[in-house]
Amino acid sequence: MRDCFNIPIQRKEIRMSRVYNFSAGPAVLPEEVLREAQEEMMDYRGCGMSVMEMSHRSSMFQQIIDEAEADFRSLLGVPDHYKVLFLQGGASQQFAAIPMNLMRHKKAGYIITGQWAKKAAAEARKYGQVVELASSADKTFSYIPDLSRLPITEDMDYVYICQNNTIYGTRYSELPDTKGRDLVSDVSSMFLSEPVDISNYAIMYGGVQKNVGPAGLVIDVIREDLIREDLDEDVPTMLRFATQAAAGSLYNTPNCWAIYICGKVFKWLKNMGGLAVMKQRNEEKAAVLYDFLDRSELFRGTVARRDRSMMNVPFVTGDKDLDAKFVAEAKGAGLENLKGHRTVGGMRASIYNAMPKAGVEKLVDFMEDFEKKNR
Ligand SMILES: *Cc1c(COP(=O)(O)O)cnc(C)c1O
Repeated sequence: MRDCFNIPIQRKEIRMSRVYNFSAGPAVLPEEVLREAQEEMMDYRGCGMSVMEMSHRSSMFQQIIDEAEADFRSLLGVPDHYKVLFLQGGASQQFAAIPMNLMRHKKAGYIITGQWAKKAAAEARKYGQVVELASSADKTFSYIPDLSRLPITEDMDYVYICQNNTIYGTRYSELPDTKGRDLVSDVSSMFLSEPVDISNYAIMYGGVQKNVGPAGLVIDVIREDLIREDLDEDVPTMLRFATQAAAGSLYNTPNCWAIYICGKVFKWLKNMGGLAVMKQRNEEKAAVLYDFLDRSELFRGTVARRDRSMMNVPFVTGDKDLDAKFVAEAKGAGLENLKGHRTVGGMRASIYNAMPKAGVEKLVDFMEDFEKKNR
């Protein structure tokens, strides 16, 4: 009989040909993090198994999640009266969990700046009254609406925004004045891209597969007084923030692997110098691309200048066939996932934290060359 444990692992030569990946999500991860995970895959720090195989109740995993939370808190400067929860169901599940936990008066205000805000509002409508405070739907969400005269009322439980709009490439350059109402923000596609003042938010949350880690994990930062036991009885156990907070995000089996990888990304971000340094790097990267778009005679950005995202950059040539040709040829040159979202068309380059400046420079060189050949 063959001894399964003695079959030598076949060490095939792994062909390494990494591309520059401009995907909106799941998206590029830091190479250092991938290599470290690879090294620890067969035997995590002498325990003889990978993190995917260990009990979420083990002291080994407890250490992983505790360290991840501590590093996340220190990166973002999360105050003590905020809880950090590692949850599943993606950002989309929070579209329901947030109204279920926060709608005391069954009323909230939503600013509609794209598909994700629209979906969040539609979900909240199942649990209470949703007032559309402002919208930029009239121009395919290519700008952030005027925030100076929002019809916010006393009886609203919260004001909801999607702070960086992954599909349309807009971001809020300032937060709305919520007139004392709690602010809830979906920061999925700008998570940890720059320093933020958490005290401006009641809840700041995001799916990590855009700018932080692998798919399957959403991180909520929640002001403690919003974690309540006295919810409607029919709110599912798993969707109650109180359940998750009391269990330290371990009410049931969490996404152990994603928490582990995110923990590594947090350490990578700390090593890079933290979020102020990341902001500077991200601004420099975005400027390389936007400066080119502004001087190009073939390509143009689709977003109002003052509302441009640092993370997601949509652009077009104005000619569908030429756009398709560009995407195909870029792929051939090792520049992947540049096809724009179907509602915008054209191209979109997502240039998250882990995208090196060299990747953006290579993209711009390629665009310049393409422009010369196709004018
Ligand atoms: C991708 C995305 C979502 C949806 O995330 P899931 O984890 O797939 O549910 C929500 N909001 C924003 C801003 C996103 O970019």
